[in-house]
Amino acid sequence: MEYYDQHMHTNFSFDSKEKMENYLSLVGNRMVTTEHLEFNNPEEKNQDSVPDYDAYVKEINRLKEKSGKRIYRGVEIGYSAGQEDKIRDYLAKHEFDVKILSFHQNGDLDFMNDKVRHMDPIDVATQYYKMMWKGINAFHDADILAHFDYGIRKLNLTSGMFQTTAGVLLTNIFKIAIRHDMAFELNTKSMYKYHNIGLYDYAIEIYKQLGGKRFTIGSDAHDAKNVYSHYDEALEMLKAHDIHHINIYSNNAMTVMPIDDVDEGIRY
Ligand SMILES: [Zn+2]
Repeated sequence: MEYYDQHMHTNFSFDSKEKMENYLSLVGNRMVTTEHLEFNNPEEKNQDSVPDYDAYVKEINRLKEKSGKRIYRGVEIGYSAGQEDKIRDYLAKHEFDVKILSFHQNGDLDFMNDKVRHMDPIDVATQYYKMMWKGINAFHDADILAHFDYGIRKLNLTSGMFQTTAGVLLTNIFKIAIRHDMAFELNTKSMYKYHNIGLYDYAIEIYKQLGGKRFTIGSDAHDAKNVYSHYDEALEMLKAHDIHHINIYSNNAMTVMPIDDVDEGIRY
């Protein structure tokens, strides 16, 4: 069986210009894109960023036919306070094979905005994880909890600082995620582009010790050249934590896949 990237974007997301077609030659027989659903998006003047679903499905069908590959529909649900009803309403009306849940913003500020660099890191971390804690209690209808460290990508927190500031909150967040069968995402962009490998070592162990058993790897690619980025390293990290499988979501079903089988699968 073959693993495939569980987090990537095309021009159906507000912040990507990549054509879906450009990923096709770089992946195996299966692929999913996870497009942004972000209501009240501060990065877009608080407009709603919503994928053009009809055009999305049409493009998937066109490329399925052309390539013979299986292409799934995915969404990255950006939760923010007060938007629950709109999110639920949208998801009730549009079908997706894979749903990932993200916390990007607080209504005024996306935590990847450069302003964050000039703020007090401890304040940012405290604010971000309190927000995530409230958010995941209010909304947890998803398969995967994406990049748990999104809000602190722009900071240089050591694992020690992180633990003191946000350790208890993160533990409580993971308890809710596990209760709702959400997978832990190894976001290779966070790990390798934003140098948060240490935080992932710390967080994987917490998630695992709380009984969490589901793990996905997502590149968070916004252009085709980043698909599968640092996959092998992420697999090695899981093995180092004595985790020997990864999970795949497709057609609203979850598959467990031994890591030893992956090695053959993802090299093209
Ligand atoms: Zn994403």
